[in-house]
Amino acid sequence: MSNDVIQYFLELIAIDSESLDERAMMDRLRADLESLGARVEEDNTGKSINGNAGNLYALIPGKIDKKPILFCSHVDTVRPGIGIKAIRENGIIRTDGTTVLGGDDKSGVAEIVQGIRRIVQSGQDHAPIEILFTVAEEIGLLGAKHFDKNKLTSAFGYAFDSHRVGELDVGAPAQNSIKIEIFGKEAHAGVEPEKGVNAIRVASEAISAMPLGRIDHETTCNIGIIGGGTATNIVPNRVLAMGEARSHNAAKLERVTAQMRQAVEDTVQKHEGASYEWTAKQEYASFRIGDEQQPVQLALEALKNLGIKSETKVGGGGSDANILNAAGTQMIICGTGMNKVHTVDEDIEEEELKRGAAFVEELIRLYSQGE
Ligand SMILES: [Zn+2]
Repeated sequence: MSNDVIQYFLELIAIDSESLDERAMMDRLRADLESLGARVEEDNTGKSINGNAGNLYALIPGKIDKKPILFCSHVDTVRPGIGIKAIRENGIIRTDGTTVLGGDDKSGVAEIVQGIRRIVQSGQDHAPIEILFTVAEEIGLLGAKHFDKNKLTSAFGYAFDSHRVGELDVGAPAQNSIKIEIFGKEAHAGVEPEKGVNAIRVASEAISAMPLGRIDHETTCNIGIIGGGTATNIVPNRVLAMGEARSHNAAKLERVTAQMRQAVEDTVQKHEGASYEWTAKQEYASFRIGDEQQPVQLALEALKNLGIKSETKVGGGGSDANILNAAGTQMIICGTGMNKVHTVDEDIEEEELKRGAAFVEELIRLYSQGE
């Protein structure tokens, strides 16, 4: 393993690991973590989700008698992520424009491993360190959902999976995914349309009546997929619409989800012969960690010591931290320097990788010293 975080990052992004194909990355990370004295285990998640690798859990024992501190990142990347060719120019690492860079989330992985390496190799006493590298985050947080959270014994932790180093996401919304099927009745559109019930018409009216878009500062709703019908001369008998609702507030999430359903119910009532099926499922719960809480205070102090500008904010997306928080381990999400993620224009500043690794090192040092 290289002792240079930039070099190490370049090595990691050269290993393909689109979601469900994380085998090579997990083998590499197991070897790297073992070389730092970690006890490493991989779980069976790969089997359950049809991937070729499980989540990697590691514990580095420490001489300081405290609960461990947890660091977490996901190792899968979005597509197109095969054969990433990195270009280094003026302190920026970017791609050749044909793939993503994979800085989401290998910048997090590289910073965590290199920060820990510095602590371990310096020989200083430290608290135990837990590390969780998950699979399949990008396709619905599948790795974190399948991981046995009872394994974790950390006091709290940090997910390295956001933008600028120094940015701390101390809250994230909950999300419901929504699937609506609307049924009408098929009939020949030119011969006997009066015998049909047009499911597309019913769906259009129902969706028009829904609250959609930004509902308030902490709540959003969307219908993102719609499909139905088979031919222009057939009154369609089925429409499938899929969407989501998010809110930082559980009561509001429930309310807005109920309003979406009510819009369908009311519309279907108005069309004799129409019916519907509704499925809403909570994908993940929200979390909010107060600025006065220890994980936030420790992070702010570490950033201050390093001269990095800090900012706490509430994010708009779900990540592994939602799942781990819901299971009882307080987690905040830290920026890694990743930029323009999920696009082929993705890049990262080399200095950000250095700052991120220094931040991990300083978090461990401060935590180990503290009460
Ligand atoms: Zn990510």
